[in-house]
Amino acid sequence: MSSVYQNVVRQFNKAADLMNLDPDIRVILSSPMNEITVNFPVRMDDGKVRMFTGYRIQHNNALGPFKGGLRFHPNVNDDEVRALATWMTWKSAIADIPYGGAKGGIKLDPKQYSKAELERISRRFAYSLTTNIGPNYDIPAPDVNTNGQIMAWILDTYMSTLPAKERDTALGVVTGKPLEAGGSIGRTKATGQGVCFCVEQWAKDHNFDLSKATFMVQGFGNVGSWAAKLIAKHGAKLIAVQDHTGTIICKDGIDPEKLDEYVAEKRGIAGYPEAEAMPNEDFLSTEADIFVPAALEGQLTEETTGKLKVKLVAEGANGPTTVEGDKILTEKGIDLIPDVLCNSGGVIVSYFEWLQNKSSEYWDLEEVDTKLKKKIIGGYDRVKEAAAKYDVDMRTAAYIVALSRLESAYKLRGVYP
Ligand code: NAD
Repeated sequence: MSSVYQNVVRQFNKAADLMNLDPDIRVILSSPMNEITVNFPVRMDDGKVRMFTGYRIQHNNALGPFKGGLRFHPNVNDDEVRALATWMTWKSAIADIPYGGAKGGIKLDPKQYSKAELERISRRFAYSLTTNIGPNYDIPAPDVNTNGQIMAWILDTYMSTLPAKERDTALGVVTGKPLEAGGSIGRTKATGQGVCFCVEQWAKDHNFDLSKATFMVQGFGNVGSWAAKLIAKHGAKLIAVQDHTGTIICKDGIDPEKLDEYVAEKRGIAGYPEAEAMPNEDFLSTEADIFVPAALEGQLTEETTGKLKVKLVAEGANGPTTVEGDKILTEKGIDLIPDVLCNSGGVIVSYFEWLQNKSSEYWDLEEVDTKLKKKIIGGYDRVKEAAAKYDVDMRTAAYIVALSRLESAYKLRGVYP
């Protein structure tokens, strides 16, 4: 099986071949620009010091500052972060926002640490990265197991390293901040909202009645829970959910708002009283109209994709489908809204947060949602057009859109010296 980054390279090569990408630009985009690994010490609650390893990989900044989330997870490694950073470059280019791509993370299981330890870990990681991030250079955001609180700690640490009179220029060093710490209204739900806008557009294109639809979601964290709550508002029925604690099913429908309250208290879906537990391995064979993967990468593979009985996969997660998984989706005639388009709502509203920080403004929710819809549907239309023009699947089309945008920028600017 290929690594996560090999998966990206295979996707990239396929699109680059089809669109005849300029060979020089192909070489440039084939590798990340900077790869930073930091090992840093943190004092634990028991008084002992422990070393942690963190990464920040900056794939490309031809279109604007490096941009991408920070993940805290035991599986974090350079290969995974490299893949996630590369996807961010494509994502910003498809959304037509002036950002490049980056990603970072720390290899750890956050469940093993107290809140005070997580604060010290986050702050020390931010301190180790100080010279490599900045509001006009590289702008982190939340990802798996990170949130607004962690962004607020990173902001505070970064600001504290600056001379006092420069601190007020630093608000945009991270996005996904809590509202009270300079965040944007609508950022928390933005990725799920973007998934929902894409699903609405797909339904419109296919004359499909969302009010009669059934759907299933893998991962019930930020992205999965918001996607579920917003898709359910159309009358669609959430019938199965899977997370790291187990799988639940209820053919009459699971109320995503109630499940969200349960998860906030119990830290997982297992034991939710208004649905039945089902074996994890049966989840993907559930009959439903729409599947929203919103957990980790590599879920739809050569072995698992054949199980699906859905009409649409709307990728909330980054990289949930391997190249082999993609082939099976095409063979089975299952539609796909690829990650680099479908989950771009998060980076789009991060961009809005950054713009608000730069101009010391606060927009209202209606303004944020209206602008988000316009941006993400703009990307959707460009990808759909490329799919028709090149007669390819939506993922390859999305890559073609991104690579064409980057190719134009490089051709105009040239390569220094
Ligand atoms: P999160 O930490 O809020 O939630 C992650 C969810 O995945 C949890 O419900 C967890 O239980 C579940 N999960 C973990 N391991 C699992 C497993 N083995 N099987 C089933 N479920 C499992 O993270 P998030 O921010 O919602 O991110 C989810 C995905 O969306 C990631 O791929 C992330 O890169 C992507 N994404 C997030 C954002 C964002 O704004 N947060 C933006 C774009 C893409």
